[in-house]
Amino acid sequence: MNIPQSSFPRVVIIGGGFAGLSLAKSLCRKEVQVVLIDKHNYHTFQPLLYQVSTGGLEPDSIAYPIRKVLQGFPDFYFRLAEVEQVDPEKKTIVTSIGPLEYDSLVIAAGTETNFFGNTSLEENSMAMKTIPQSLNLRSLILQNFENALLTDDLHKRDALMNFVIVGGGPTGVELAGALAEIKKGILPKDYPDLDTRRAQINLVQGASRLLPAMSEQASKKAEDFLEDLGVHVWKGLRVTEYDGWTAKTNDKTQFETAALIWAAGVKGVRLEGLTQASCQGKGGRLKVDTFNQVEGYQDIYAIGDIAEMSSEELPYGHPMMAQPALQQGRHLGKNLVAKLEGKAMKPFVYNDKGSMATIGRNKAVVDLPKFRFQGIFAWYVWMFVHLYFLIGFRNRVVVFINWVYNYIRFDREARLIIRPFQKGYPKELYDSQSD
Ligand SMILES: Cc1cc2nc3c(=O)[nH]c(=O)nc-3n(C[C@H](O)[C@H](O)[C@H](O)COP(=O)(O)OP(=O)(O)OC[C@H]3O[C@@H](n4cnc5c(N)ncnc54)[C@H](O)[C@@H]3O)c2cc1C
Repeated sequence: MNIPQSSFPRVVIIGGGFAGLSLAKSLCRKEVQVVLIDKHNYHTFQPLLYQVSTGGLEPDSIAYPIRKVLQGFPDFYFRLAEVEQVDPEKKTIVTSIGPLEYDSLVIAAGTETNFFGNTSLEENSMAMKTIPQSLNLRSLILQNFENALLTDDLHKRDALMNFVIVGGGPTGVELAGALAEIKKGILPKDYPDLDTRRAQINLVQGASRLLPAMSEQASKKAEDFLEDLGVHVWKGLRVTEYDGWTAKTNDKTQFETAALIWAAGVKGVRLEGLTQASCQGKGGRLKVDTFNQVEGYQDIYAIGDIAEMSSEELPYGHPMMAQPALQQGRHLGKNLVAKLEGKAMKPFVYNDKGSMATIGRNKAVVDLPKFRFQGIFAWYVWMFVHLYFLIGFRNRVVVFINWVYNYIRFDREARLIIRPFQKGYPKELYDSQSD
């Protein structure tokens, strides 16, 4: 990997997400050599991926070069590579560009979409965890409307204009709201020769309410907002099968849809070599103690979404959100320095700053630890918080200008099919719908 030897111990960080970057920043100018490895050369601001998928923002405005974050940090190295395996015995990781030894290893690799072993869903539905996936979704949404124009068959046209989003967490809710706004504000103008009133947005949630991690009040209000926007909300319903055209559920309900978006679960990114049973958490997460040390291993830590720090209060660990990732990264940085100085490490205590979701223009729900509010003020708070945490001054300016422009013009100008998405819906199924 061409990393020079250093007189300082080497900390290797896997992942330049919220957790990995906040750790890297907290180790700047400390007596350690830091090597950050990520399979992308940019940090992704995942909370705004749905705006890329729906043409509200360009992808570049929610991505930031990792090398730029690390600029000027002494004894810091970035390598663009995928980490495949950890060898705790040899204190080495195996990556797509070769092995690397570590003194301390920090796994901050986050999560990936979980299809719970359902291959029909994995093969045929759309995920939204990365920028390339969001661009695929953006292309598919627009391609489906272009294709809907080309057919006289009402049945097929309806399926091309039917969007089924599975998962009623923040991602599903935000995406459903954005699609409903597109249907209302943009489609009639873009496709005057298509009856876009027939377009449908179905949000399917397995649990009994939307946004289950938020208050009942926020769930109820989010549902009201979505229904006002014309979204069909299905609760207590699970999609069990999807062949690219027909989505079957656990009851008799079926959807004919050429676009099923899967936002119903994530699992920890899997790295080979961590075989101790004691570190296997729920959904592939790594069990850690209160110092973020992976159970059963010395000098291996995990932070962010991939870390499951369970307690009596939180049996499955902290919520998989940006705040725990940022806070754990910062805290572990201090602990690693303390350890090197021979001082005691301090246990991590999560400072819950609340959670929020936006449903659309002037519509958001915010749960703060002490009070809750919804509506236009919540929407302003949502925008402020997202701009604040977005990395990079240019990105903040570009996103802000885009939002102001979209707000005034009721528009989303990034509705571009730059790289057409080849959806693998079975051609025979698609063709058979024509008679
Ligand atoms: C669509 C969406 C919307 C969200 N909305 C919100 C929200 O509104 N508010 C909120 O608080 N949270 C939100 N979240 C969750 C939030 O984004 C995560 O909690 C946060 O990103 C976790 O940070 P992390 O550093 O643990 O992981 P990530 O940010 O996922 O970073 C992991 C990094 O590791 C890299 N990586 C993974 N595997 C490897 C490997 N094998 N080798 C090398 N590199 C690897 C990845 O490329 C990535 O850069 C959302 C998530 C999604 C997907």
